[in-house]
Amino acid sequence: MPEKTRPTAAPVPSRDGRDPGPLSVPFNRPFTTGREAAYMTEALSSGSTGGDGPFTRRAAEHLARLLGSPRVLLTTSCTHALELAALLLDLAPGDEVVMPSFTFTSTANAFALRGAVPVFVDVRPDTLNIDERLVEAAITERTRAIVVVHYAGVACEMDAISKIADRHGIPVVEDNAHGLGGFYRGRPLGSLGALATQSFHVTKNVQCGEGGALVVNDERFAERAEILREKGTDRSRFFRGEVDKYRWQDLGSSYLPSDVLAAFLLAQLEAFADIQARRAHIWAAYHERLAMWASANGVARPELPPGCVHPAHLYYLLLPTPEGATALIDDLARRGVQATRHYQPLHNAPAGLRSGRTGPGGCPVTERVADSLVRLPLFAGMDGRELAHIVDSVNRHPAR
Ligand SMILES: *Cc1c(COP(=O)(O)O)cnc(C)c1O
Repeated sequence: MPEKTRPTAAPVPSRDGRDPGPLSVPFNRPFTTGREAAYMTEALSSGSTGGDGPFTRRAAEHLARLLGSPRVLLTTSCTHALELAALLLDLAPGDEVVMPSFTFTSTANAFALRGAVPVFVDVRPDTLNIDERLVEAAITERTRAIVVVHYAGVACEMDAISKIADRHGIPVVEDNAHGLGGFYRGRPLGSLGALATQSFHVTKNVQCGEGGALVVNDERFAERAEILREKGTDRSRFFRGEVDKYRWQDLGSSYLPSDVLAAFLLAQLEAFADIQARRAHIWAAYHERLAMWASANGVARPELPPGCVHPAHLYYLLLPTPEGATALIDDLARRGVQATRHYQPLHNAPAGLRSGRTGPGGCPVTERVADSLVRLPLFAGMDGRELAHIVDSVNRHPAR
């Protein structure tokens, strides 16, 4: 399989023999494999540029294999896959959906747009995943689903969460935007909830600019998922020759990506092992080479509970204080390294206060970590010099 990394800046000769020269490392540099353009050209010249063409089929099959789940529907984004999940749950105004506060807005928007109330639960201080010990207390007779986010692709405590969901007869939805390639006790993330959503946004491990998928693991949702994604029609059955005309069957929308984008995505999926190996190398280098600096400065690094295999989606450092996080970000920026914060809490955001409710006990951990977390650049095309510069820059920073 041909591989190509984006060209990176040539080394700048040092002036005084010590200075390695100015280097500028962005937080993300979209990685391409070299196959995208050829596949997209093929889609264009075949004339099959609408949704559900041959590249969509191949990309969905590839994903199905990675996820160990037979039913994968490509969508235009993870946001749209979450919206599709919310439609499938038949939510009524006043219904409730339990989710972490420490997540992207789409996780909450999708359900709030259907009139449901997001009920925000705090995260665990070690994994920054929804704290399974707080989930049950947030459940009421109006709860219709539990939405989990595998932060950084490290699995939530799915055995405990699934047990709670089963006890209350409600489904689990995995927002698996970070988790493609991750495992929980040997099972792929994205295969554990009744429904799961994937993102192929430019910032994710596998990208096509904008894209996503809905994974339907519970057979009960399979037929309707296909219909809601196709403007509420049974057009998918019509294309398979199962009906002789298609009709308006249900309330849906249009969530199909063009086959040109699916062609882009297929190129990335075919290079998945290579992408993951490159990312794992960078993640491991950070983890190893920043360990001493972190412990000397009271900085926490990602923690992996037993049974979790993570897909190297992001690398973060938890500084002892918000001021410490700001100082690190600013210092790295001066050295040309773009480090960033991550999610701001949803439960106390303007829209969260209007549309949501906070579970018992509030979200103190979320509030604390949101301001003290710093993410380092992590992308498959990072070269050794860039990696060394980042590691060196962090190691030179006095965190206290
Ligand atoms: C990126 C992300 C999304 C949204 O993905 P899009 O494909 O951009 O819509 C949703 N949830 C989480 C946790 C994400 O990281």
